[in-house]
Amino acid sequence: MDFHDLQYWQQRARALEIENRLFINGRYQQAADGAQFAVEDPAGQRELVRVAQGDEHDVNQAVSAAREVFERGDWSQSPPAKRKATLMKLADLMEQHHEELALLETLDTGKPIRHSLRDDIPGAIRSLRWYAEAIDKVYGEIAPTAQDALALIEREPVGVVAAIVPWNFPLLLACWKLGPALAAGNSVILKPSEKSPLTALRIAGLAKEAGLPDGVLSVIAGFGQGAGQALSRHPDVDVLTFTGSTRTAKQLLKDSGDSNMKRVWLEAGGKSANIIFADCPDLHKAAANAAAGIFYNQGQVCIAGTRLLVEESIKDEFLAILHEQAQTFRPGNPLDPETVMGTLIDADHCEKVNEYIAAGLAEGANLYLDGRDHPQGEHGSYLGPTIFTEVRNSMRIAREEIFGPVLAVTTFTTEQEALTLANDSDYGLGAAIWTRDLSKAHRMSRRLKAGLVFVNNYNDGDMTVPFGGYKQSGNGRDKSLHAMEKFTELKTIWISLE
Ligand code: NAD
Repeated sequence: MDFHDLQYWQQRARALEIENRLFINGRYQQAADGAQFAVEDPAGQRELVRVAQGDEHDVNQAVSAAREVFERGDWSQSPPAKRKATLMKLADLMEQHHEELALLETLDTGKPIRHSLRDDIPGAIRSLRWYAEAIDKVYGEIAPTAQDALALIEREPVGVVAAIVPWNFPLLLACWKLGPALAAGNSVILKPSEKSPLTALRIAGLAKEAGLPDGVLSVIAGFGQGAGQALSRHPDVDVLTFTGSTRTAKQLLKDSGDSNMKRVWLEAGGKSANIIFADCPDLHKAAANAAAGIFYNQGQVCIAGTRLLVEESIKDEFLAILHEQAQTFRPGNPLDPETVMGTLIDADHCEKVNEYIAAGLAEGANLYLDGRDHPQGEHGSYLGPTIFTEVRNSMRIAREEIFGPVLAVTTFTTEQEALTLANDSDYGLGAAIWTRDLSKAHRMSRRLKAGLVFVNNYNDGDMTVPFGGYKQSGNGRDKSLHAMEKFTELKTIWISLE
């Protein structure tokens, strides 16, 4: 992959034409009331563009178009092979626009261009391709009934899907939803975060170019209280698929109950534990993974390994290597391809993360590495790797999702203590164990209350495995064929035979 150089990206950024309109029923348009909101570049701390601010009226328009095309069957009843070809074409078009999409993502979020190019955009494309390839290989079932009946069990698309997504991996997380929802034949209304709407708006036009019928995919930029709420309370949305905070997730469950009981699938927050046993097979690899597990994407990762549990006997040795590894994450200009750590999403969020650092100090944790020391800090949204040691699991920095590059280190002496600490959380998204002992790895994997357990890695995986959490980390799963379950209804057809 060609990462080019800083000048190349600066030049491209200057020449970039940014799509700033909503996409409804196959065409770009301004919001019905003409409202717009500012989208900022968190690295430059300047307004990038003003984007149309969708609201209830725009949502209603998108939902009726989605319903109409769904009932007409242009997409929902089209042969799976046709849906596959269209989604493959969309993936191809995204690949042709790979650099443009990566640049939009970096300008919009402050994540390093290196990562947008290498991870976000290819990951989004892979997701679309994976579900496109799968859709003509998924069969129904015939139930083992008596001879006088034939019972078919089929999966049908549900109807109108609202996908509400956050700002940390805007296009990737959108495509984790679009892939299975569209492949299954649903109509989708995508609402990107108000902090990162640009790539979603851009791919809507590419979807049309790929041949997706009008109304099957609409993209409404706007705020949670506006467009988001209009979707979550809409009586004609059948499924709400969400990635974002646990606070919003709880509200969406209420909205569903207060409206039409739409199915609600939630990928919410996390406070994942990364457990390093003394018999860890490779301390260097574990430390590199622990650092990447919390500092990648500036710590703005739902499954970040925010709580590091280290066996007491190796604590000093491990911390020394971890300290070294943390130094490789130096905040820098996101457009510089050498940069591996960009900016936080905005100044408000940066302030919130800084408040957690203050809370950690106030509660008596030891600030082992202070990310605020970094010179870039003066410009606002930059924060370097931060490590607290001597953290008790009762402290706020160990219990609450910080969503920044702040690691809380706790020690333990027994396997049972490690397990108790790891499970003592409102969340249950991920957990990792580093050990040579196969039995210990299995024992722990079975007892950890987390949707994903990693053994001797942190957050490895691909499209073949489900992603999602236990407890207040959510319900349902993204990725893998299991994600199709969220976007399909099971139908039984019982036929009496003469
Ligand atoms: P957020 O909940 O503030 O916003 C997420 C989305 O919901 C945005 O599009 C927002 O506009 C919308 N929204 C907000 N209030 C709404 C309402 N009342 N009704 C309808 N929509 C509403 O979350 P965020 O700050 O954008 O993202 C960070 C959060 O996302 C973190 O908690 C993180 O853990 C979580 N996340 C989870 C996963 C996962 O897979 N589990 C992945 C990535 C991020």
